[in-house]
Amino acid sequence: MKDELFFRTTLLAWHKTNNARQLPWKNESDPYKIWLSEIMLQQTRAEAVIPFYEKFLAHFPQISDLANANEQHVFKLWEGLGYYNRCRNLITTAKAIVQEHGGIFPSDYKQILALKGVGVYTAAAIASFAYEQAYAVVDGNVYRILARFFHIEKPIDNAEGKSFFQTLAQRLLHLQKAKLYNQAIMDFGATVCTPKQPHCHSCVFQQRCISFQKGLVLNFPVKLKKTKVIKRQMAYLMIQYKNKIFIQQRKENDIWKNLYEFVPYEGTKKELYEYISTHFDLNKSDIQQQIFTQQLTHQELTITILFFQIQHIPAILTTNFVAVPITKLNTFAFPKALREAILWAFSKKKNIGIK
Ligand code: SF4
Repeated sequence: MKDELFFRTTLLAWHKTNNARQLPWKNESDPYKIWLSEIMLQQTRAEAVIPFYEKFLAHFPQISDLANANEQHVFKLWEGLGYYNRCRNLITTAKAIVQEHGGIFPSDYKQILALKGVGVYTAAAIASFAYEQAYAVVDGNVYRILARFFHIEKPIDNAEGKSFFQTLAQRLLHLQKAKLYNQAIMDFGATVCTPKQPHCHSCVFQQRCISFQKGLVLNFPVKLKKTKVIKRQMAYLMIQYKNKIFIQQRKENDIWKNLYEFVPYEGTKKELYEYISTHFDLNKSDIQQQIFTQQLTHQELTITILFFQIQHIPAILTTNFVAVPITKLNTFAFPKALREAILWAFSKKKNIGIK
């Protein structure tokens, strides 16, 4: 109890005198803007989010603007931020708030939590930042600080550990200053008690931080599972016909759903040139090849791009695919690696207009 009181008061004092972290959504009380920033911040660094947050608010100042927007336009603006599920949820939730809540962001915690893409952490952030409600946020920052300061050996990635940390965080929260306290703990984790090189030498908790005193800071928080990363090979045919390229929208429940891609090739490497020769009547020397990589949380992608030009459109391209002028490719949302492939294929060619 004594340590808990010390933790709370010291954290708030640090926030008052030492916290210089500036972010565009800080001190915001508009739930729409808080929600938008929190969704963008999931698995993404704050610095990377800032330009996207500002761009979104410039295009969609109100939640109704987002709900009524052309979805492809929203995806295009999201391009580069990754984790596109968040963008799909953003659109679904904006529409639900307009249709079911008359365009007013709900203030009831349970209703906030029921929104698509909003978990316990995001709901607590919205409830406390927008409505000053006493819900403690528990994100990676909070797990780390509490695990280190209190020397908690419970893992943060099983149900028991999660529930333990949630209860502790809620007990530590300053009930009358929930917004201030939540902001303080998140900023502290992002700027002082950082994952790899925490600033223990200048930390206000140093004297009472058990992990620091034991010299075990980097052992915390404890995790049970290691993220399993699958290596995945993909191949695309980037086919140019006159001044156009064939693309299609990804519909499957897989990575990059709703984004655009070139013509996917799904056979073995050995059969690839045979496939191209059969369908497009081309030789190996007519094809330019380049490899791109992209790292996702659970997948390491190696993507082979085969670029070539055709004089006639074969039957396999007449269904599913659309031929889009090269100068218009910029208006479609592509995954990062395929955007790089477009740059590789066209940036050196004059009069194409690709930036
Ligand atoms: Fe984190 Fe180090 Fe401070 Fe402990 S002393 S709270 S580990 S920064």
